[in-house]
Amino acid sequence: MCPMQMNREDFPILGREVYGRPLVYLDNAATTQKPRCVVEAISEEYYNVNANVHRGVHFLSQQATELHEASRETVRSFINARSTSEIIFTRGTTESINLLAFSFGEAFCHEGDEIIVTEMEHHSNIVPWQMLCQRRGMKLRVVPMLDDYTLDLATYRSLLNERTRLVCVTHVSNVLGTVNPVREIIAEAHAHDIPVLVDGAQSAPHIAVDVQQLDCDFFAFSGHKIYGPTGVGVLYGRERLLDQLPPYQGGGEMIRNVSFERTTYNDLPYRFEAGTPDYVGTHALAVALDYVTALGMDHIHAYESQLASYAYEQLSQIENLVIYGGGNSSLSGGMAGSAISFNIRGIHHLDLGTLLDRLGIAVRTGHHCAEPLMRRLGIEGTVRASFALYNTRDEVDALVAGIQRVVRMF
Ligand code: PLP
Repeated sequence: MCPMQMNREDFPILGREVYGRPLVYLDNAATTQKPRCVVEAISEEYYNVNANVHRGVHFLSQQATELHEASRETVRSFINARSTSEIIFTRGTTESINLLAFSFGEAFCHEGDEIIVTEMEHHSNIVPWQMLCQRRGMKLRVVPMLDDYTLDLATYRSLLNERTRLVCVTHVSNVLGTVNPVREIIAEAHAHDIPVLVDGAQSAPHIAVDVQQLDCDFFAFSGHKIYGPTGVGVLYGRERLLDQLPPYQGGGEMIRNVSFERTTYNDLPYRFEAGTPDYVGTHALAVALDYVTALGMDHIHAYESQLASYAYEQLSQIENLVIYGGGNSSLSGGMAGSAISFNIRGIHHLDLGTLLDRLGIAVRTGHHCAEPLMRRLGIEGTVRASFALYNTRDEVDALVAGIQRVVRMF
């Protein structure tokens, strides 16, 4: 048995049935299931440690603070940031990007400036930038996608100019599984002194991320997509840049001194963390990161890539099935093992998803929060199967058999 499959035991939910059938959970790009150690860390902290963090003189508050700050160090080490000052806890990728769009916009953006996004972004990496552009009278420039599902890098290069303030790009597409050449994209932007935000929501769970090696300026990811709890995420920012950004929200924790005349702000990273943080969530996130680190991100990546290649091969053999994405071809930059999107000609994606559900197979259907990409593909939506470390070839076979059964019904 593959070493990853042995870890299914760690995820109690995978043992349950739906509609009297064994659950086949293939909606991991939306959220992953949680290992027992993460669920237990949450209850253990509420049962035994719970107290508000920072500034508490009492034992429990200090213990909770230690756990919370140790979690920041775990995150730092997980993405190889230089310092914990660069790790801001947020509610998730969406909040990380909104924080950046506000604070970066305040610090660096003026009328006539431009922000670059790509055609394959999730709405979370489009709308906050669109809102900033509206506030400031700026322009959103879009890197198109080519027919092989990769980004048009020639057009990207031509879009970089002296008005460009920031490049925002997803590391891995949540729809296509395309792994974008972010190192190259970052190097091109840096040649023009333009910083880059990488949306790592779909890469952090599948690929070992090293923000220093990538040389990105900002990196955002969500805890719940990497076996951690909902409601916790991370914004990494290069200290030199974060230092120049004003706070996003005002309140407790983010201040040094407050008077009615004037407030001074706290140091990094607390300046960006107004209010009581989800300290139980940050600790549980660290437990999740320790869990995947112990398995080895490279092992996880290798296993998931093999599984996704197998799924790609098997699905390709189904008549009338169209896959959106380049699979493991070198053209696509290789698949991270996160997502395969497809449709069956003549069957609506919603019908296919609903009928698969009745067979116990959980897939996602719809536009996957990437409406501009759907428009580019000329479709309304897809069925998306997305994989995690606990998925198996048997589950891929169940998906293929399920699709074939639905096709026969039609
Ligand atoms: N970016 C990408 C590429 C995603 O796939 C997602 C979620 O699916 C997000 C951003 C938003 O993540 P969250 O809803 O956890 O904030």
